Amino acid sequence: MAFELTILGSSSATPTSERYPTAQVLNMLGRFFLIDCGEGTQMQIRRQKIGFGKIKHIFISHLHGDHYYGLIGLISTFNLLGLKNDLHIYSPSQLKEIIQPQLDFLKGDLQFNVIFHPLNFKKPQLIFEDKKVEVVSFPLKHSINCCGFLFREKEKEANIKKECIQQYNIPIAQIVKIKQGADFITEEGETIPNEVLTTPPPPPLSYAFCSDTAFYPPVADVIQGVNLLYHEATFTEELRDWADKTYHSTALDAAKIAQMAHAGKLILGHFSSRYESAEPFLMEAKTVFPNTEDVVDGKTYVI
Ligand SMILES: [Zn+2]
Repeated sequence: MAFELTILGSSSATPTSERYPTAQVLNMLGRFFLIDCGEGTQMQIRRQKIGFGKIKHIFISHLHGDHYYGLIGLISTFNLLGLKNDLHIYSPSQLKEIIQPQLDFLKGDLQFNVIFHPLNFKKPQLIFEDKKVEVVSFPLKHSINCCGFLFREKEKEANIKKECIQQYNIPIAQIVKIKQGADFITEEGETIPNEVLTTPPPPPLSYAFCSDTAFYPPVADVIQGVNLLYHEATFTEELRDWADKTYHSTALDAAKIAQMAHAGKLILGHFSSRYESAEPFLMEAKTVFPNTEDVVDGKTYVI
């Protein structure tokens, strides 16, 4: 089952000729999560050939326009396409005040429910879970309330060894229990310990999205051991004053968070349009965290 991230937009503040404002789609075992929704998101979704109907959960980190101005257009398209599924939006509570009047203007024409879930800016919070995955929001340090999101698989079941099924003649009904940790008692009354019968499951995978933020070490605790980390890097150390003034990170800040979190890989985006290329960001980040890449619109990362 796929667990992969596609970058739809990676610019900061305004679109450029090469980058759309922030938006990403995470395909997590067949669940399609839209993370931020900058202007132009629906065109990028089309280009990536992602079915609109698959997106039922949208996560908005904060209410700076480059992170959500694509939302009302996307909702309108869902409606024009005749989609009927409930749409869940996890965002700062004020987003409802902004979007709802536009939805109300449609009166009875909107064919699905839009359900707003307010984020908590004081502490990490579990905001979504089902049988296999969970999503946790966590506070960042920006000029307005802002959250990051951690998407992680739940602990998987152990694998049962095929040779043991034959050797001990294990009935199918028992296999489910053994996978969940039970021992097995043979017909002769002998107890076979679970660790003899199973191999441990692969470790759960995770992805963290660190949206606009100043350097904020508490994040590293929340996302500890994350496989793939997106962290904004709007500036390099050369413009440290600007980073501090605007509550943004430098590439070095992002690399430090990746290192503290023991991340598997770091991807950087949200570059200021003052820079002509991502090269200075990469050079700076790699001095601390070598496994760093810059994101490019349209690129997919397998987790
Ligand atoms: Zn912002």
